[in-house]
Amino acid sequence: MQTGSEIAKVEKQGLVEEVLTKEEQANLTPDRVIALLTEGNHRFVSGEMTLRNHNEQIRRAVAGQYPKAVVLSCLDPRIPVEDVFDRGIGDMFVARVAGNTVNVDILGSMEFACKVAGAKLVVVMGHELCGAVMGGH
Ligand SMILES: [Zn+2]
Repeated sequence: MQTGSEIAKVEKQGLVEEVLTKEEQANLTPDRVIALLTEGNHRFVSGEMTLRNHNEQIRRAVAGQYPKAVVLSCLDPRIPVEDVFDRGIGDMFVARVAGNTVNVDILGSMEFACKVAGAKLVVVMGHELCGAVMGGH
């Protein structure tokens, strides 16, 4: 009979454990990142999301952050940004504010994401039936 930890170990085999490296990030282009996020969104929509070992990804991401994109999204809890693009630990920065509008603090964060941390793409993502835009409905 397997113990709980043995079962957990078996279930984690074959899960994605990698995180983006500095070299991989450097080789990305904005067009490639758009393609990757689009492919991830198709997996999200079709219910075929990547299974990840988040504990291992966290360990591997400790050394540095090399995200491929920065996303400005609404605060809406129905829009789980990483899930929408089928992304995991270290894949992208996410700034969230109701109505996905930019202010000086968020703009500074997005500039950091691109200029300092090397993100290749800025995504401003709105959504349908936004309560912030509709005034709380
Ligand atoms: Zn919204």
